[in-house]
Amino acid sequence: MKGWLPALLLLSACTAESPPPALATDAAAIHERLLVLDTHLDTPELFGRPGWNIADAHTVAGGMSQVDLPRMKSGGLDGGFWVIYTPQGPLTPAGYAQAKADALKRADEIAGVVAAHADAMAFATRADQAAGIAASGKRIVYQSIENSYPLGLDLSLLGEFYRRGVRMAGPVHSQDNQFADSTTGKRSWGGLSPLGKRWVAEMNRLGMVIDASHSSDETFDQMLALSKTPLILSHSGPKALFDHPRNLDDDRIKALAAKGGVIQINSIFLSPLYNTPARAAIDARKDRLHEMTPAEQAALAADVAALDAREPFQDADFERFMQSVLHCLKLVGPDHVGVGADWDGGGGVKGMEDVAALPKITARLLQEGYSESDIAKIWSGNVLRVLAAADAGRAK
Ligand SMILES: [Zn+2]
Repeated sequence: MKGWLPALLLLSACTAESPPPALATDAAAIHERLLVLDTHLDTPELFGRPGWNIADAHTVAGGMSQVDLPRMKSGGLDGGFWVIYTPQGPLTPAGYAQAKADALKRADEIAGVVAAHADAMAFATRADQAAGIAASGKRIVYQSIENSYPLGLDLSLLGEFYRRGVRMAGPVHSQDNQFADSTTGKRSWGGLSPLGKRWVAEMNRLGMVIDASHSSDETFDQMLALSKTPLILSHSGPKALFDHPRNLDDDRIKALAAKGGVIQINSIFLSPLYNTPARAAIDARKDRLHEMTPAEQAALAADVAALDAREPFQDADFERFMQSVLHCLKLVGPDHVGVGADWDGGGGVKGMEDVAALPKITARLLQEGYSESDIAKIWSGNVLRVLAAADAGRAK
């Protein structure tokens, strides 16, 4: 009995804001041994930048980059879903043809990078492959499609992407398209188009995970009703924290969870975004990064850093991001929440600028009282469950 009183005093002293050193060390060790996946890595957008190499250590301020192999290692990020993103263009035969070419080129670039770094990266298509790849010290490369626009009107193309290893796709991006209405669109269809409903059936038939991020509320509702397997929101957040069309209301997050799905918390749309004319001008320059020499890229990076210092894009910080995570955890529990921070796609907040900061999330969850097994689900168990469910639903 003698030892319990000082121990209790020590415990009460530990309720202060920052974790005590012992817990901090535990957190680092726990984070390191967990399988850590992020479900929306836009890093393939950078693969075509002249001189850019994923094996080099970059920075946000100097290099406009949030994910590379050195920082994945230091941040304990084992891998995730690497995105084939296509911007929305015209719904015409020429628009579809260009988008298809662009998406296949992006898929080729991902394959090229994984082949060039075969000692450090490996493709995965099934849920049960992730742990083995991580144990071998390699980074896990699942692939997903953000915006199904490149499929045009030809759903058989989904099978082509499946053969290339893609296992997750969302119908739409920031504008309505041939399949569905976007969160930031004009309500062209009132949810899914007739072709969009067939897209859902084809996704189920192939055994691919349906990603409802960027889908309008009606599109989400209809996909949730139609899909035979659970949905994912690969990078979204709760409206309760910040009322933005890209975020979901609590009832929809609960409906997602009730059908076995998962919301992967985004690190943007957490607070007002300042889309100033100067920001628009910088973004227009960023669109031409693939044509820039390394010196021109460095000059742009300096201008971006100066603008960020002068007029930040958003006020959100790490604690604000954690409020979003914790809100969803309280709402639907640790079986239905994960992380998809939109790295290299607009994500990142003060205090969590790149993937090197990910151990802070584990430390903060431990501080909130979540167990290691809860956190294991949050970091990868939930998304792998949804992936396995989609695969199990694949038409035999
Ligand atoms: Zn996105």
